[in-house]
Amino acid sequence: QKWYPVHAGFLSTLTRREQRFVRAVDDVSFTIEAGEMLGLAGESGSGKTTTGELLVRLQDPTAGEILFNGEDVATLDDEALKRFRRGAQVIFQDPYQTLNPRFTVLQTVMEPLRIHQIGDRAERLERVIDALDKAELRPAREFLHRFPHQLSGGQRQRVAIARAIVLQPHFLVADEPVSMLDVSIRAGVLNLLRRLKEEMGLTMLYITHDLSTLRYICNRTAIMYLGRIAEIGPTADVIDRSLHPYTQALIAAVPRIQPDSRRQVVRIEGEIPDPIDLPRGCRFRPRCPQAFEACFEEPELQEVAPGHWVACHLYSNE
Ligand code: SF4
Repeated sequence: QKWYPVHAGFLSTLTRREQRFVRAVDDVSFTIEAGEMLGLAGESGSGKTTTGELLVRLQDPTAGEILFNGEDVATLDDEALKRFRRGAQVIFQDPYQTLNPRFTVLQTVMEPLRIHQIGDRAERLERVIDALDKAELRPAREFLHRFPHQLSGGQRQRVAIARAIVLQPHFLVADEPVSMLDVSIRAGVLNLLRRLKEEMGLTMLYITHDLSTLRYICNRTAIMYLGRIAEIGPTADVIDRSLHPYTQALIAAVPRIQPDSRRQVVRIEGEIPDPIDLPRGCRFRPRCPQAFEACFEEPELQEVAPGHWVACHLYSNE
């Protein structure tokens, strides 16, 4: 759980007694198996980036546990957190913002090795070259002394990937890693992530708002809405046999080259509501075309098929 307190003005503090919160991540629970790539999708404001940042303790949870190999990441002290971070890395959305413009590729990719005091200068150089080669920046030595502005968008994201894998992590959070890239080079970077996952035995959380990429690289997929999981299961089930009206609406919004006339079109109106004043009951209720009376109660996730869970009263067993 991650709630942010809302800092009210002086007058509203006097008149309002209750502390208010943005419930960015609220009662979210899921597992990622070793070697699995779990997709996490939803609109902006659904809480998916905060969830990813919690998993690698870039943010501290308000409550709850984050178990990595049985150890609670949420309570690690500084020393243990540093050890954990060696094995858990993040690839951010915008490589241009994450790469220091004054650092060469060599400095950028070598920095984590310096921070974690791994190897001497020669060993570090070898590991940087290996990471660049794995990120398909070849020949790697030709990239070492370039600055970010001398690279294309795709190459910059590959440098960010090389930096993320140079410590040989076990777990990666990839937060919209291709959304800033031209469509023509997205497939190449997605292929790279998929290959790295196989070759390095990585476990990954892949965050995206682009559902069309999920089927391509994720074993399972979770759909988030307003800080909660609406649906989670094998990607084929969630994407091809989606049950939650929100998932169906997201899928209907994905453009297709050959429109499928059999596809049920579910449209949702309006913006994602204010996460401070959450709707009563199901959080999707104000936008849901299938809402009914029971939806004034918040639905729990229920397993509707093996491994396929949905939080919607349309599928309640009771
Ligand atoms: Fe729609 Fe009700 Fe299901 Fe929520 S619980 S998604 S409002 S049908």
